[in-house]
Amino acid sequence: MTRATATTWSNWAGNVRANPRQIARPADEGELGDVIRGGDRPIRMIGSGHSFTPLVASEGTIVDLGGFSGLRAHDTERMTATIGAGTPLGQLTQLLHAVGQGLPNMGDIDRQTVGGALGTATHGSGLGLGAYHTQLLTVRLVDGRGEIREFSADAQPEMIQAVGVNLGAFGALTEVTFQNMPSYRLRRRRHALAVADMLENFDSLMRSHRSAEFFVIPFSSHALHLSYDMTEAPVSAHPPEQDEDGLKTLKMLRTTLKRLPWLRRKLIGSALAKIKPEDFVDVWFGAYVSERRTRFNEMEYHLPFEVGAKALREILSMMERDFPEVYFPLEVRSVMADETWLSPFYKRATCSIAVHHDAAEDPTAFFNAVEPIFRKYDGRPHWGKMHSLTARDFAALYPRFKDAMELRREIDPDGRFISPYLARILDV
Ligand SMILES: Cc1cc2nc3c(=O)[nH]c(=O)nc-3n(C[C@H](O)[C@H](O)[C@H](O)COP(=O)(O)OP(=O)(O)OC[C@H]3O[C@@H](n4cnc5c(N)ncnc54)[C@H](O)[C@@H]3O)c2cc1C
Repeated sequence: MTRATATTWSNWAGNVRANPRQIARPADEGELGDVIRGGDRPIRMIGSGHSFTPLVASEGTIVDLGGFSGLRAHDTERMTATIGAGTPLGQLTQLLHAVGQGLPNMGDIDRQTVGGALGTATHGSGLGLGAYHTQLLTVRLVDGRGEIREFSADAQPEMIQAVGVNLGAFGALTEVTFQNMPSYRLRRRRHALAVADMLENFDSLMRSHRSAEFFVIPFSSHALHLSYDMTEAPVSAHPPEQDEDGLKTLKMLRTTLKRLPWLRRKLIGSALAKIKPEDFVDVWFGAYVSERRTRFNEMEYHLPFEVGAKALREILSMMERDFPEVYFPLEVRSVMADETWLSPFYKRATCSIAVHHDAAEDPTAFFNAVEPIFRKYDGRPHWGKMHSLTARDFAALYPRFKDAMELRREIDPDGRFISPYLARILDV
C-alpha cells in the first residue's frame, strides 16, 4: 500500500479543499479493510475528484481506489463485464471495445472512475437510457467493519437498488459487473436553433433520437441541439472540437459588451445562426466524450420530464434579467426512470438542467437564484453538483430514503464513512 501523509487535496473545480492526515492507496481488499478499520476517520473514498460537492473531503483518510482497476472477466454471449471499481471510464471504454462490448450511454467526459460515477448517479442523455447504475448486475464492497460483501441482481435485486447510488457511504466498492451491449457506432449531429423553436418542440427534439441534448447559449436566443443515433455507416472524419474556443469567445463578448447587452445578443445570435451543422459517425465513446479544460462550477437538478421546458424558460428569463456575467451554456438532458433508491431518476422520467459558472468567479448569487426554481418544480439535485439541501429535504424527495439510511447504518454501524458533509445530507 502507498500512503501520502498530511497533504492538501482539492477537487477538479478547485472549490473543495481538505487537509487529510493521509491519502491511502490500498493494493487489495485486505489492505482496504485495514485502512477502513484503522485509518483516521472519516474514511472517504475518492474516484478522480470530479464532484463539485464535498463528498470526498476528509480531514482523516482519503482512500484512492486506483489499485482496483481493469477488466477482471467478461462474457461475450451475455455482454457482461466485471471491472475494478477504480477503473477510469476512459480506460474502461478501451477495455470494453477491445472485447466487442459497449456502454449503452455516457456523459460528457470519461475522466470519472466507475466507483465515482456510481457514487453520484452520473448520467448521459436519452429518455430510453438509464444512468450508469442501471447497468449494475453485481457489486462487491468492503463495509465499515472492513468485511467483504457481495450482492447480485439475480439473488438480491433490492440490495443492488439500495447500494447502486452510494455517495461513498455504503462501503468501498472494489468490483462491479455491468450489463453492456455489443460495441456500436453512433451518428452524431449538431445544429443551432432558436430557443423559441427549441422550447416549442422540446418533447419531439428529445424523443425522436436515441439520445439528444441541448446546450443553451445565454444572451443569444439560440441553442445547439445534439443528437446521437445508432448506425451501421462507417466511421467518418471527426470535426475538430470547438467547445473551448467557443467558450473563450462567449467570455470575451460577456466582458467587453457588459454595457451593450443588445449587441452581445446580436453578435452571438448571428454567429450561431451561421454555424455549419455537424454530422459524423464514430464508435460510441468517440461520439459521446468531450474535453473540458476550462474550469467551472456547476449546479444540476433533475426534474420531472414534463416540466423541463417550463422550468428552463423561467431560468433563462431570470438569468438574462439578473446575471449578465454568466456566459457558460446551460446543458439540458433527459434520463430514463429507474428503481435505485437514491437515484435522482427514481421512478420518474427526468429532464436534467445544468447551469455553470466560471470557476474563477463566485457562483453563489447565481446558484442561489436558480435553485428555488429547480425546487419549485420538485427537482432532485445531482449528488455530485452544487446544491444547498440537507437530509430533511432528501427524506421528502426520496421515497426510499429511510430504508436506505437503515441499510447504511447496518453496513457502517460505527459511522466510519461519515464526514461532516455526509452528516448534513444523510440521516446518520
Ligand atoms: C468536467 C466535468 C464533467 C462532468 N460531466 C458529467 C456528466 O456528463 N454527467 C453527470 O452526471 N455528471 C457529470 N459530472 C459529475 C461527475 O460525473 C460526478 O461528480 C462523478 O461522481 C465524478 O466521478 P469521480 O470518479 O471523480 O468521483 P469523485 O468525485 O472522486 O467521488 C464521487 C463519490 O463517489 C464515491 N466513490 C468514488 N469511488 C468509490 C468507490 N470505489 N467506492 C465507494 N465510493 C466511491 C466518493 O466517495 C464520492 O462520494 C461532471 C463533472 C465534471 C468536473
